[in-house]
Amino acid sequence: MTWHIVGAGSLGSLWAARLARNGLPVHLLLRDRVRLKAYEDAGGLTLVEQGKAHQYPIPAELPSHPGPISRLLVACKAYDAEAAVQPLLQRLAPGAELILLQNGLGSQNAVALRLPHARCVLASSTEGAFREADFRVVFAGHGFTWLGDPLQPAAPGWLADLEQAGIPHGWTPDILSRLWRKLALNCAINPLTVLHDCRNGGLAEHPAEVGVLCAELSELLQRCGQPDAAEGLHDEVLRVIQATAANYSSMYQDVANGRRTEISYLLGHACATATRHRLRLPHLESLHERLKAHLHQRGLPVT
Ligand code: NAP
Repeated sequence: MTWHIVGAGSLGSLWAARLARNGLPVHLLLRDRVRLKAYEDAGGLTLVEQGKAHQYPIPAELPSHPGPISRLLVACKAYDAEAAVQPLLQRLAPGAELILLQNGLGSQNAVALRLPHARCVLASSTEGAFREADFRVVFAGHGFTWLGDPLQPAAPGWLADLEQAGIPHGWTPDILSRLWRKLALNCAINPLTVLHDCRNGGLAEHPAEVGVLCAELSELLQRCGQPDAAEGLHDEVLRVIQATAANYSSMYQDVANGRRTEISYLLGHACATATRHRLRLPHLESLHERLKAHLHQRGLPVT
C-alpha cells in the first residue's frame, strides 16, 4: 500500500527517503503547481546523513490528482495540518489511516474532527532533521517515534513497513500521556529560552521560575487526567536542561530565524486547557502573555 505524505519538509522527507529506499511505495503531495515544478526541477528529495547526500526521485503529485489515499502521513507544522488535509478528504478511501506527526496538542483533534470515519494515529518523535535547502534535508539527530491511537489500542499492520524502513518506533496505548509530557517539558523550557535569550543550559540560572512553572504544569496534567505525565516532571526538566545545555531550543531557533512558532499547540494549548478546567495558573498565563508580546514585537504570529 502506498504511503502518501503531505508535508515534504524536514520530518516528512526523513520518513519519505527511508521508506522509499527500502522498497516501499511513497507519493509526496505538494501544495501547488509552483512547489511541484520546484520539486521536479530539483530532481527529487535529498537526504544528508553523516555528511553524505543521496537523492531519491520519489513521485510527487498535487492534492487534486485523482486516485484514492489509504495511508496518509501528515508531516506539516501543527498550524498547517488541518488545511493540508482538507483538499485530500475526498480522496481518502474507506478505512483510510492517517499518521499525525505534529508536535504539541490540538492540531490532531482538529484533523480528527474532520475525519470521523478514518483512523488517526498520533506520533511523538525525538528524531531531528532540518531543511538545508528546498527538498534537501539533513538528518541531524537519531531518536525514536512513539505511535498510538487513543481510540483503538490494537497496533496497525503497517508498523512492519517502519521496521523495514529502519524507522525506530514503538506502539503505545498511552500516546496522549507521551504527547502531554513532551508538551509540558516544552512549556517549561522553550518559552523561557526565548524570553531570556539563552541556550537551554542558561535556564540553570532561573531555578525559581522553572520550578514554579513545573508545579503549575504538574497541576494541569493531574487535572486533565494525565497523572503519569505529571510524575517527576520537575526532575526531568532539570535533567533536560543539563543534558541539552549547549543547545538552542526549537522555539528559540524558530524565533531567531523569523519563523512562525507552534505556540498555540504548546503553551497556548496548556493555557486553554487550564481555562477549560477552571484552573488558575498565573505563572503559566503570564509566560504565555510575555511570549506573545515578544513574538508580536518581532512581527511574528502570536498563534
Ligand atoms: P517543516 O520542515 O517546516 O516542513 C513542513 C512541510 O509542510 C513543508 O515542506 C511545507 O511545505 C509543508 N506544508 C505546509 N502546508 C502544506 C500544504 N497545505 N500542502 C502541502 N504541504 C504543506 O516542518 P518539520 O520540522 O518537518 O515539522 C513538522 C512537525 O514535526 C512539526 O509539528 C514539528 O514540531 C514536528 N517535529 C519536527 C522535528 C524536526 O526535527 N524537524 C522533530 C520532532 C517533531 P513548503 O515546503 O511548501 O513550505
